[in-house]
Amino acid sequence: MQLQSMYQDIILDHYRNPHGRGLRDPYEAEVHHVNPTCGDEVTLRVHLDGETIADVSYEGMGCSISQASVSAMYDLVVGRSVTDALATGESFMTLMQSKGDTAVAEELEDELEDAVAFAGVSKYPARIKCALMSWMALKDASARALAATPTGGQA
Ligand code: ZN
Repeated sequence: MQLQSMYQDIILDHYRNPHGRGLRDPYEAEVHHVNPTCGDEVTLRVHLDGETIADVSYEGMGCSISQASVSAMYDLVVGRSVTDALATGESFMTLMQSKGDTAVAEELEDELEDAVAFAGVSKYPARIKCALMSWMALKDASARALAATPTGGQA
């Protein structure tokens, strides 16, 4: 119960004080993703420096899980290579498929930082898409940004 309430505090904190929110220039790709089952939306821009994610900027609306997830993701991916960031996205996907298994959350805690707080969401299939929307948008925008930059598209 204590862990659950700590997780809820982390999610609410990101929801109330989102990190990196706002749409910024420059950017190489912008995507708009929606989660129709809940009414969540995010517009997300990726700015690359070579293959490094120099900035992720976004606007969105929807439930606290969907909006807090973008904020927690921002902390995890800016300054890292697209490959590393998407690998962390895969780990987040693993967490979302863990059906509330705390062993999975413990294993991924160091890598996912605040995003491990979404572990409880994995018990609620209807809410998993809320948490995953931001990562889907990042994957989409990163691929487009790589294709749009001269150094991208080689890999
Ligand atoms: Zn939602």
